[in-house]
Amino acid sequence: MSTATAKKEESGRVVRPLKIRKGDMVEVIAGKDRGKRGKVIHTVPRENRVLVDGVNLVTRHQKPRQATRATPQTQTGRVVKPAPLHLSKVMLVCPRCNHATRIAMSFTQDGKRVRTCKKCKEYIDSV
Ligand SMILES: [Zn+2]
Repeated sequence: MSTATAKKEESGRVVRPLKIRKGDMVEVIAGKDRGKRGKVIHTVPRENRVLVDGVNLVTRHQKPRQATRATPQTQTGRVVKPAPLHLSKVMLVCPRCNHATRIAMSFTQDGKRVRTCKKCKEYIDSV
């Protein structure tokens, strides 16, 4: 999924990869779920949004439909599921110091680009 390069869409709009990636732990800093932590299960770079497990839950009233091979019947009735949150509402939780932190970019000795915690200055990504 994640390539570290910017993608250009047909419209000419450049979509850069997010600093927060799938599998990261994030803390919600705004909105009704402020203070909650969860794991990122999906990212939407073109909308600057992330889907966080157990956060921003919405109830959808899913009508039963004829199941086809393309759209198999899933759950029907009242389905509670997470909705994507804007990137500005979450902060990455550093796996080393366990603080919600901002992210710096730095390079390892062999020139690899890694995310770094602004608080403890440790690498967030495994080197
Ligand atoms: Zn840290």
